[in-house]
Amino acid sequence: MAKIKKLLVANRGEIALRIMRSAQEMGIKTVAVFSEADRQALHVRFADEAIGIGPSPSAQSYLVMDKIIAAAKETKADAIHPGYGFLSENEEFARQVKKAGLIFIGPSAESMEIMGSKLGAKAAVSKFNVPLVPGTAEPVTDPVVAKKIAKEIGYPVLIKASAGGGGKGMRIVHREDELSEQMERAISEATSAFGDGSVFIEKYVSEPRHIEFQIFGDQHGNVVHLFERECSIQRRHQKVVEEAPSSILTPELRKKMGEAAVNAAKAAQYYNAGTIEFILDEKMNFYFLEMNTRLQVEHPVTEQITGLDLVKLQIKVAEGEKLPFRQEDIAIHGHAIEVRVYAEDPSNNFLPDIGTLKTYRRPQGHGIRVDDGFEQGMTIPFYYDPMIAKMICHDETRERAIDKTIRAINEYEITGVETTLGFCRYVMQHQAFRSGNFSTKFVEQYFTPEVLQAHPSDEEEMIAGVLATELVKSVQPNPSSQPAATQVASSWKKNRT
Ligand code: ADP
Ligand code: ADP
Ligand code: MG
Repeated sequence: MAKIKKLLVANRGEIALRIMRSAQEMGIKTVAVFSEADRQALHVRFADEAIGIGPSPSAQSYLVMDKIIAAAKETKADAIHPGYGFLSENEEFARQVKKAGLIFIGPSAESMEIMGSKLGAKAAVSKFNVPLVPGTAEPVTDPVVAKKIAKEIGYPVLIKASAGGGGKGMRIVHREDELSEQMERAISEATSAFGDGSVFIEKYVSEPRHIEFQIFGDQHGNVVHLFERECSIQRRHQKVVEEAPSSILTPELRKKMGEAAVNAAKAAQYYNAGTIEFILDEKMNFYFLEMNTRLQVEHPVTEQITGLDLVKLQIKVAEGEKLPFRQEDIAIHGHAIEVRVYAEDPSNNFLPDIGTLKTYRRPQGHGIRVDDGFEQGMTIPFYYDPMIAKMICHDETRERAIDKTIRAINEYEITGVETTLGFCRYVMQHQAFRSGNFSTKFVEQYFTPEVLQAHPSDEEEMIAGVLATELVKSVQPNPSSQPAATQVASSWKKNRT
């Protein structure tokens, strides 16, 4: 068994920090890589060593395999963790890392290859009794053939890029006369985003819920699942709010889907961390969507309900250790909700709103975890994903976790850029979300920019804060009693929203 002594993290931002923290706790030295734009970034300051890998655009830095492997060699690192995004799902990278005599913290290149294309993944899992969304098994390029297939499946249909990710290259088609045009668009989007224009057609499930299972395998053939995460609150087919467990699964369905997820992983002889994504229709039928062969953005909700550190587990499995538990040893404790804090403007179609964090103050308290990569005064680089932070709240029940999330959002102070915080508060307060009766259509069905306008502006909040402090002063002998003032201010906010 090869013990890792020094780990290079081939990523940036919150995930680079999150990985390095676990490595440090295990006594492993850390190496950061950085582009021009990230010279001053927190992950660079945190690491034991840091190495520049070129200009800001990721195509010239974080996506260049040779530079990253050379950096690992130069610093005598013995392993590479790819994080998520960038090279994390690139099987060629996994292969090159291994060839260079280094440990890749993730699955084998072969598993990544099988699961890397959505079509390949569907073909592999179908042999293992995993239900699929009705659709084509082969890429489609001819609009005439596509029309015939779509007719058989029945409209609406979804055109998807086989190499897809991040919601790109996906088009809904409601009627036959829209098909050719949407197909052309999907092909061109897929070609420019992934360098592979293969698209296929799937039945568009009308109001599904996105339920995914965290799976974990070791290199000795053991595979378990660590329960589900529900990620139905999405914009542009991309997740913004995630929770574990899902409010809709019964223990029976959880067991059934969990077994399907483990089977899907076994179909690719999978080891290390992975996620099997399903959609669930209104009749509680579930269908396999894809597998993500890496650590997921939303993995902390699973960590909160299981008490496990998934990065430490990834490292141990990569070293060759066996999983330290069996399926029956793992249980769900309480409920966790993650909100993704993006520098985006929800009232302008969730478009990125890049800028400088004039104020940046994290919420605190029991059951609150903030994974971020920024400090007050820092600028969000325009080159990368505009996620500022992930905030994860954990409590005994779903209702309490929701209320805690609202409290923490109210405490989170960010100025200088627009963020998704106000939108996430709207979700937490919404009856559909609270009752558990929602789908991936939430934004379309319930969200308009006006719903956020009902919330007080920063200036109004400041005035309210001052008023509240005055009020406390007049009733309390101790004028510096901060907690009481905060309490009054936040209940005022609650009344307004
Ligand atoms: P998750 O299911 O973990 O939420 P996402 O699909 O949202 O995964 O992607 C995770 C991260 O990877 C995001 O930061 C996203 O911008 C990035 N990403 C996803 N697909 C690609 C891709 N094909 N190329 C580059 N980055 C990607
Ligand atoms: P990506 O690689 O971009 O993550 P996915 O296949 O995982 O692509 O789909 C992303 C999201 O798009 C899903 O979470 C779901 O909301 C929606 N989606 C995907 N396939 C379907 C489908 N067949 N019917 C309805 N919605 C779908
Ligand atoms: Mg997906």
